[in-house]
Amino acid sequence: MTVHVRFAPSPTGALHIGSVRTILYNYLLAQKADGRFILRVEDTDQKRLVASAEAYILESLRWLGIVPDEGPEQGGPFGPYRQSERIALYRQYIQPLLDGGHAYYAFDTPEEIETMRERLKAAKVDHPPYNAISREWMRNGLTMPAEQVQEWIAAGKPYVIRLKVPHKELIRFKDGVRGWVKVDTATLDDKVLMKSDSWPTYHFASVVDDHLMQITHVIRGEEWLPSTPIHILLYRYLGWADQMPQFIHLPLLLAPNGTGKLSKRHADQYGFPAFPITWSSPDLTVEKSFREAGYLPEALWNFLALLGWNPGTHQEIFTKQGLIEAFSLERLGKSGVKFDIAKAKWFNQQHIKKQGPTAWANYFITEATKENITCSQQEAMAICNLVKDRITFPNDFWQEGRFFFFDPVDYDAELIQKKWKQQTKEELVAFTQRLTDLATWDVHAIKEVLQTMPGIRPVLRMALTGGVAGPDLTETIALLGRAKTHKRIEAFMLNGYRDA
Ligand code: GLU
Repeated sequence: MTVHVRFAPSPTGALHIGSVRTILYNYLLAQKADGRFILRVEDTDQKRLVASAEAYILESLRWLGIVPDEGPEQGGPFGPYRQSERIALYRQYIQPLLDGGHAYYAFDTPEEIETMRERLKAAKVDHPPYNAISREWMRNGLTMPAEQVQEWIAAGKPYVIRLKVPHKELIRFKDGVRGWVKVDTATLDDKVLMKSDSWPTYHFASVVDDHLMQITHVIRGEEWLPSTPIHILLYRYLGWADQMPQFIHLPLLLAPNGTGKLSKRHADQYGFPAFPITWSSPDLTVEKSFREAGYLPEALWNFLALLGWNPGTHQEIFTKQGLIEAFSLERLGKSGVKFDIAKAKWFNQQHIKKQGPTAWANYFITEATKENITCSQQEAMAICNLVKDRITFPNDFWQEGRFFFFDPVDYDAELIQKKWKQQTKEELVAFTQRLTDLATWDVHAIKEVLQTMPGIRPVLRMALTGGVAGPDLTETIALLGRAKTHKRIEAFMLNGYRDA
């Protein structure tokens, strides 16, 4: 049987980073098993619909380099892939449930339901359900004569269709991550399957589609675990029990300090991105994203894949292809995972390093151009190679290397005070002289000179780069070249520091 997985977002807003991990695991499994990854837009809750959310999701997938095998853009044998375009289809499947006595009409107004819940709350029921007990007091197809039900429908009275959850039955299913899960139906609500506008709810549409799209593995966040017994009942009542997908509920991503589910609030608090890409449209604004912060898609893949899955080896750095090859459902973790942004940065660093000098130089030149600096590929490569260990994001190449193109304009007076020794001035003069005398300008020669006067290093770095930290000083001098080196030391000495 071909593996069919799906990512089924409700287009109600931006895609949270946790959902990106869900996408990734689905995609990895599909790729690994030579199966199909389906994107299905679950837009049946028209009240919560955000018009540009779908475009946001599609663009995020594009950035991640994930192309669905089937979806609203690609089409496919099980389309359409937007639930709003499948409404007629769900109606076909509700009738057999009504006929089989597994679903029923309910005419209760919101106020009547509220009264029922209040009554149960007063009797100390914490989460008052609409269930086998309470449904008896309500106005529905189970308490009303059949003719009256038909009359009310014909008269246009608003109704919903509910699932008739059996009383006190133990539902057992084997979750791919948690093993056997048992749920007593007494804890479940008679979920609404069809709303008063005759649109299906998530539960109903999702089960029908998972079946019709021949989904073999439902991989989703742990928050959907409580809904699974409802889905299992639906599979059973629709006659599909023997074709049920495997359910795999992923453990939560936790806040960096381990307290509770990761949320946008934590992202703000700790200052890291919560979304894949930024976005700006009249109905959706997304800031603080991984793409705009300078994360490479493959670094994000690597980071997210290892938040809840492990390869069973010590390997940490994976290419996209490497992840596909190594992935297996058996190695998904059971417990929640803390979101550690320092680790994400480390992965980014490693993946940028792997890209090599040509990519680095391109990052560098792109940024340089923005400041009207022209720089050859060769020069950019040399600078990038020098600063590469100081890089977390692509822009850092330019930030770390831009001093090669701009003479320092001011110096940290406090630091100079601290580092300035009586002999510093003479040493700087002597150093300059010895550089002048050098027959060849190379790292080796410069190193020899600098070794004889180690005390001037901090001041020298300040004079040459304007900063206190930077790449290897000898190599910096070598790359800066004779002319700039002399010019900058002279400027520094003229700038009031010669007599400091
Ligand atoms: N539409 C649901 C969501 O918003 C899908 C849940 C599922 O994967 O079944 O996440």
